Amino acid sequence: MEKVDIKSLTIEELKQELAGMGEKPFRAGQIYEWLHVKLARGFDEMTNLSKDLRNKLEERFEFVSLKMVEKFESQIDGTCKFLFELADGSIIESVLMKYQHGNSVCISTQVGCRMGCRFCASTLGGLERNLRVSEMLDEIYSIQRISGERVSNVVLMGTGEPLDNYDNVVRFLHMLTDEKGLHISQRNITVSTCGLAERIRDFADEDFAVTLALSLHAPNNEDRRKIMPIANKYNLDEVLAACDYFYDKTGRRISFEYSLVEGVNDNAEQAMELVRLVKGKNCHINLIPVNPIKERDYKRSTGKNIQNFKNILEKNRINVTIRREMGADINAACGQLRKSYKDKLTRQGGEVQS
Ligand code: SAH
Repeated sequence: MEKVDIKSLTIEELKQELAGMGEKPFRAGQIYEWLHVKLARGFDEMTNLSKDLRNKLEERFEFVSLKMVEKFESQIDGTCKFLFELADGSIIESVLMKYQHGNSVCISTQVGCRMGCRFCASTLGGLERNLRVSEMLDEIYSIQRISGERVSNVVLMGTGEPLDNYDNVVRFLHMLTDEKGLHISQRNITVSTCGLAERIRDFADEDFAVTLALSLHAPNNEDRRKIMPIANKYNLDEVLAACDYFYDKTGRRISFEYSLVEGVNDNAEQAMELVRLVKGKNCHINLIPVNPIKERDYKRSTGKNIQNFKNILEKNRINVTIRREMGADINAACGQLRKSYKDKLTRQGGEVQS
């Protein structure tokens, strides 16, 4: 019989599993706490369970625990980037950022990505597979364990498109915010999407009080299609209507991400077009100086253009910030660390799953 992934089970499901094994329901509470509060690394750590029960659990369940293969720490601001290996040999990356208001972890939601955004390293090798609930949870648990830091904020902005791994992401959010688990506040979670309009509407109906970040990156369909293939499937009207729906349902202000690429989306006319596009919406625009990747010849906008773009938005009373660069000395755009690690293994003739 195939083993059940215990860290992906809600407490109700765990209770049922244990009932099926003839165990008392309170055991489920104990085990859930070991998994999701005490962040145990294996059944042998669950010392308030009998040896006999631990053996039974071992037989029945799979215990997902990520293996850290590399860690890079910024000397400037303490940002840490982690590479983790999954049970099947896949490699993913996650980041810990330390802010005054608390520690934030940026997690991956898929191994690779199939969205194809032109400036993004995560999508270069395509999608390998979705991450499981347990794997996403364990990105946070592992980082909290390794760093000894309490994590208060989580952003789904690493490799992958969260809404393309919809069911697992929704379950992950329920478990992450569950008061019997790590109990992260929904308000401290941001889900970033390249704009799967129908899924944004479904997600609004889940009624999470999380922040939705939309990767906009261009103020019109024509420019957007040049850098984001998803824009061929959903036009801006459809995507923005879905964001309005999310706002109406949840009351949560939308965050628009706009990565500035020299000569592609950073001129004054485009800034004005962006003003017209979002005027009147309760939103916030996050300008991200693009992180160039070596496989493409996109360049970061100049400091002058970035400032100019921001000034135009501000003059028109649009909420805007330029994203502070974290860990500049371990600089690696989304997915670049993972990719360079895989390239290195390939060069060395090492085994690497893809
Ligand atoms: N798939 C989701 C989340 C992952 S990427 C999404 O598209 O939103 C998180 C953000 O980083 C997105 O806005 C993405 O477009 C942006 N991004 C990706 N590669 C980048 C790069 N090289 N430079 C700047 N921003 C980048």
